[in-house]
Amino acid sequence: MINSIPIREEAGSKDVEKEKDFDFFYFVQQWPGAYCDTERSCCYPTTGKPEADFGIHGLWPNFNNGSYPADCDPNNPYNQSEISDLVSDMEKEWPTLSCPSNNGTKFWAHEWNKHGTCSEHVLDQYAYFQTNLDLKKKADFLNALKTAGIEPNGTFYSLDKIRDAIKSGIGYTPGITCNVDASGNCQLHEIYLCVDTCGSRLIECSLFPDGKCNSEIEFPSF
Ligand code: AMP
Repeated sequence: MINSIPIREEAGSKDVEKEKDFDFFYFVQQWPGAYCDTERSCCYPTTGKPEADFGIHGLWPNFNNGSYPADCDPNNPYNQSEISDLVSDMEKEWPTLSCPSNNGTKFWAHEWNKHGTCSEHVLDQYAYFQTNLDLKKKADFLNALKTAGIEPNGTFYSLDKIRDAIKSGIGYTPGITCNVDASGNCQLHEIYLCVDTCGSRLIECSLFPDGKCNSEIEFPSF
């Protein structure tokens, strides 16, 4: 795993070594129905069953060559006291579904410690979580899909139609990944958008994740 690519930058008469930490972010949202109806199943958060909406998975620094930095700063671990005023929005927009049932701290800590620390020079902990919440508002996937007549009710849709609906509704081409439900059906699991290295603007992706999707995929209910 590459942690960072050093690049040389000339500053005045002196060469300055500068770390090029990552090339773009993936902003990833997850369909809870697809997390839950696999063989592994899921547990609802202690705050109750989440809304039937896409939930945030995370904001992930990535390199143009497909690799990504991870676990960049063990000296800056997740500290919920820094983001206490964001937690109620995170409970709604970033629900944990892992078992045993829990309050989400473990999932948010994992995302900060693994991914967030690799962009901490751009987004500190507060800004990282706030940016995720802001991006979620800009990327209302469920609304974009419903506008195109694509409903989470167990129907199969063409992958191209799903991609086009997101592109029309949000303005950017998404990456789409699939997983397999307990009966073996390929289904819509996560949707990726690309974000500039400041975390402020959606951009077109130069690289998409390997989605493992069939040409027709199920949009399961939740
Ligand atoms: P990452 O390491 O950021 O790629 O995320 C993958 C990890 O996040 C795996 O351990 C997943 O089980 C976990 N994960 C994904 N979605 C959720 C969720 N909604 N709630 C809790 N854990 C999750």
